[in-house]
Amino acid sequence: MINNERSDGYGTLIYLLTKAVDVISDIAEEQGILSDNSPPFYPPDITPDELKNAALYDRRILRFDTYLRRDSHGQLIPVPFTQKHRHHCHQLRDIFDNAKLHVAHPEFSEYLNTLTTWLDQGSETAYFAMQQQWLKTVNLPFLFPLVLDETYADTVFGLKGSMDAAVFIEDRKMTSICQKYLDYWYMFVTSINLPGNPLMIKPSYPKVYRAHATSAGLLNLELKAWNLPNNFALRQSSGSYQILIQETIQKSFYKDILPLLHSLFEMNSENLAQDSLLTVFHQMLLYHELAHNIGCYEMQRNLMIWDNVFEELKANILPLQFILHARDMKWMESELAEAAIMSYLALDLMDCLLARSVKSRVSYDYATKIQFSYLIDKGALKIEDSRILIDYQRFGLSNAVLLSDCLEILSIGDPEQAKRYTDRYLYRKELEYVIDLAGSILGNSFKSAYEKPPHKSLIGN
Ligand SMILES: [Zn+2]
Repeated sequence: MINNERSDGYGTLIYLLTKAVDVISDIAEEQGILSDNSPPFYPPDITPDELKNAALYDRRILRFDTYLRRDSHGQLIPVPFTQKHRHHCHQLRDIFDNAKLHVAHPEFSEYLNTLTTWLDQGSETAYFAMQQQWLKTVNLPFLFPLVLDETYADTVFGLKGSMDAAVFIEDRKMTSICQKYLDYWYMFVTSINLPGNPLMIKPSYPKVYRAHATSAGLLNLELKAWNLPNNFALRQSSGSYQILIQETIQKSFYKDILPLLHSLFEMNSENLAQDSLLTVFHQMLLYHELAHNIGCYEMQRNLMIWDNVFEELKANILPLQFILHARDMKWMESELAEAAIMSYLALDLMDCLLARSVKSRVSYDYATKIQFSYLIDKGALKIEDSRILIDYQRFGLSNAVLLSDCLEILSIGDPEQAKRYTDRYLYRKELEYVIDLAGSILGNSFKSAYEKPPHKSLIGN
C-alpha cells in the first residue's frame, strides 16, 4: 500500500501519526461532535444579539478555535481549544516530538515543529503558520492534515470548528485518471459571471488518496473528499488542495449510488460500463471540491450558519452545469454525462437521509433541499411513479438561475436574505416523498453504516 519510500523509519512515522489521529478522535468525543446535540461551544442561554455585542469589544469571540464561557460576572470569555483540551494536546506534543526522530523530509519536519508550536501557544497566528507549512508537504506520498475549522459541527452560529485529522496515502493511478478533464473544467469556470468582488484563490491541486486513518469526527461524515485549507486568506496566498478518498467513494458508489440509480432514476445503463461511471463519479466529487474555490467572498462569513448552506449549494450546482456543458460540447458521451448527473443527484439525496441522524450534515441537507425544490418548481425534475425524471433543457436553465441567486447571497453576506431564501424552498411534499423512498431503497444497510461511527479511527494498520 505504501510505496517504495517505505523503510523502518517511514513505517514508524505513519504509526505515530495514526496514534495522533486517535488522540484527535478523543478530542472530537470530548467536544461532543459525535453526540446528537450540538457541540457545547456556547453557554446554553446565549442569544445572537449578545454574541454580536460582545464581539464588538473582543473579536476573539468570533474565532473558530474557541469555546465561549461566562465568567463570574456573566461576561463571555473565549477559551482556545488547545487550552480546554490541554491534556490531549500534551499527548499530541509527545507523539510529534517522537515522530520528528523518524522524519526524512525537511518540509514535514518543519511542519511538525509548527504543529508543536501551535499546541504550545494556541494562537490563531500559530495555527495559520502550521497550515501554511502543511501546504508545503502536499507533494509527499502521504498527507497528515490536522485542522480545526470545519464549522459544520456548529449548528448554533456556524462559527466554531471541530478538530479533525487524518493520514492519507496517495493513489497515483487514480489521480491521473481523475485529472483528465481538468483543463476543460478551468475553461468552463472562467466563463462564469461572478457578482461583486470574488476572492482570487490560487491554483488548486486535486489528488486521489487512500485513507490510512481518519479521526472520529470525519468518520461521522463518512469522508469522501476534502478541500483544504478552509481559510480564504491561506487559499489566496498559497493555493488549495482537494483530497479525494478513493475507497470511501468506491464503497458508497456500489453500496448506495448504484441501487438508487436503478430504482429511483430512469437510467438507461445497458451500454454503460460501471467502471466509466465510477470514474466520472470520482470526477464529479473532484469538481465539487474545486467549486469551493470559485465565487468565494469575504462577506459570506457574515451569513453565519447559512454560509455553509450556500457554499454547498454552489458546489452542488457547478459540477452539474459542467457535465451538461461537456455533454453539449461532445467532450463526453450523453449517456455517460446523464448517468453522472443522476449519480450526483443520488448522492445529494443521501445527504438528506444522513442529516436525519447526523446533525452536522444539516447544511448539506438544506443545500440539497433548496436545489431539488427549486428544480421541481421549475419543472426540471418531475416525480412520476416513484421515479425522478429529468428535463435536461430546463435543468440547465434553472440551475443557472439558482447559481446566480446563490452567488448573490454569498457576495452580499446578509443572513436575513439567506434565511428568507432557504425558508422559501425548504419543504416540498414531493421531495420528502423522494427522500423517504431513497431511505426505503437503501434500507437498514444505510442506517447501520452511518448511525454509529466506531470510536477509534484505525482503518488500515
Ligand atoms: Zn462541499
